[in-house]
Amino acid sequence: MITLALLASLSGPHAPAQLVVVTPRGETRLAVSADADGHPVVAAFPLAAALGGSIRQDGAWITVVISRQDFSFLPHAPLFRLNDRIEPLAVPAFERGDSLFVPYQFVAEILPRYLGELYTFDREAGRLVQRGPVAAAAPAPKRLPNGLLPGHIVTVDAGHGGADPGNPGRFFPPGVTEKSVTLQVALLLQDELTRRGITVRMTRTTDTRPNLLQRAPTCDASCDLFVSLHVDALDTRKRRDYRSVDGFTTLIIGEENSADAARVAQTENEALRFESAQDQDLAGGPLAYILRDLQMNEYLRESARAGALMQTHLEPIHPGKNRGVQQRNDLAVLNTGRRPGVLVEMGYGSSPSDAKFLVSKDGQRRIARALADAIVDYLLEFEWKSGARAAGPGR
Ligand SMILES: [Zn+2]
Repeated sequence: MITLALLASLSGPHAPAQLVVVTPRGETRLAVSADADGHPVVAAFPLAAALGGSIRQDGAWITVVISRQDFSFLPHAPLFRLNDRIEPLAVPAFERGDSLFVPYQFVAEILPRYLGELYTFDREAGRLVQRGPVAAAAPAPKRLPNGLLPGHIVTVDAGHGGADPGNPGRFFPPGVTEKSVTLQVALLLQDELTRRGITVRMTRTTDTRPNLLQRAPTCDASCDLFVSLHVDALDTRKRRDYRSVDGFTTLIIGEENSADAARVAQTENEALRFESAQDQDLAGGPLAYILRDLQMNEYLRESARAGALMQTHLEPIHPGKNRGVQQRNDLAVLNTGRRPGVLVEMGYGSSPSDAKFLVSKDGQRRIARALADAIVDYLLEFEWKSGARAAGPGR
């Protein structure tokens, strides 16, 4: 009801043609424009600049940071997110050309409501007034030697573990299975990333078996990327040519399901049998599809880019074939993720040359280094893309 009332009161005739933003730094006049239906909207970049804030992109969400509060908008959806809570909007934010527009409601109602100690809004005059002294603008952040901003977080997931050995690896030495190879590479990757100034969250660091569906959520809103490590294998009873099939693949959540990716999904999802019936249902039930759709829309591009970079970095160091990035819509470990994520099949345990490479310390180190370099490239690109959109002081 509140939303409808606001929609009525903020539509058309009641919004002034100009918004005046008054802060201790001065007064800024911003044009009030209209969306396709005539509802009043304000360009977000000049607004953020006037308020000493900034704008960044988080996947499909665009976050307007005002006084250290993150107001996130999903273009064309009538909602915004604040402190992990989704709230309705009278009309959606939207992008036109390179500009982002937020509803007039943001200045008229949302800022005064959530940052009431800082902002008051005079509806008649169309004046947003900031009270009190302004915190000094933060100094430009110092970059790491590799060019990254500090503070990135990546989750590394060593596939399988504990009671779930993963695939046996036809050509692995006795006693070695997929779960031990993924753990060894994951620990090396943790070192490599840490050395590159990236904070690492591990889903496991020993021979344990975290719930398959709780692995990806370890990469929460503060985390940049989820990386799950696995080893592929062909069924040596079904495929006579199994020795000759080798190489590395990155899987991401997507719509296209190739036959080969389907086989991988089936293999990796087998670990679901260790989970409760309820969890199994979650992995494949309606909720999974909703989560997947959300994630797919938001992060397909980022996941695909991270996957492509991993393939590029693995190619020169790997004895097997570059099998590219493949999309799957039914990988349980990725479906439960809410951030960009990839599943790397680092090689085939059913190929003699891949297996030898995968169990060697040198091979494992090369894989970890290649993946870490790919992750740095991905984060640099991501920073550059979000930086190019940023507004506010120091930009
Ligand atoms: Zn696996």
